[in-house]
Amino acid sequence: MAVKSVALVAHDNKKRELVDWVAENQTRFASLRLYASGTTGRLLKESLGRDDITCLLSGPLGGDQQIGAKIAEGEIDLLVFFWDPLEPQPHDPDIKALLRIAALWNIPVACNRATAEFILTSAYMTDDQHQPNKPDFSSYTGRSVS
Ligand code: PGA
Repeated sequence: MAVKSVALVAHDNKKRELVDWVAENQTRFASLRLYASGTTGRLLKESLGRDDITCLLSGPLGGDQQIGAKIAEGEIDLLVFFWDPLEPQPHDPDIKALLRIAALWNIPVACNRATAEFILTSAYMTDDQHQPNKPDFSSYTGRSVS
């Protein structure tokens, strides 16, 4: 079965919620390849005792952009991003860029626990035959520009 890759990111006020949710769902996460922004990833490793989580840079230091690049390269199947709706972040442009690139590439995105639960328990998570449509940007990339 093709292993699905999940990127996990949480802002500081949301990290506990994300770590607890992943810990509560360890069985489902066991078969998934995990990527995370730096601090989120470190906390997940400590909490889960899992050393196979690929930790990128901390979000404000470029980690969000690294995850965006992986989405554009087709390496990520699901983005779980618990962003904080109550606090502005120093890297707000990067957050917007990450959400934009996920929408562009038709990647499922969970921005809160309720949505994350729906997606994690979806039959599509374990269905090898299901692949979300990959957008065709040929008319965009082949456009004529004067
Ligand atoms: P962090 O980054 O996991 O390194 O804290 C999250 C974020 O994008 O703020």
